[in-house]
Amino acid sequence: MRKIRTEVVIETTEVYVIKHRRLFFRTWCEDCGREVSLVSPSEAALLTFQETDAIYSLMNENRVHFRFFGENIPFICLTSLCLI
Ligand SMILES: [Zn+2]
Repeated sequence: MRKIRTEVVIETTEVYVIKHRRLFFRTWCEDCGREVSLVSPSEAALLTFQETDAIYSLMNENRVHFRFFGENIPFICLTSLCLI
């Protein structure tokens, strides 16, 4: 008896729209050597589906570029975050 094999391929696409009052801002990143978008650790966690602690770990391990603004508020270079 011949076996008939049927393959079903399902392709899906998801689009996330994140509404936020201030998601990022643009400034110069010394490490990248160009203008980049900076996000807060909580926003970075949201964008990468990680916990905020994981983002702080990346910062402590210098795996992402970051700068402090205002009252020592850290902001992460989105370009470096995307390269992980
Ligand atoms: Zn950078």
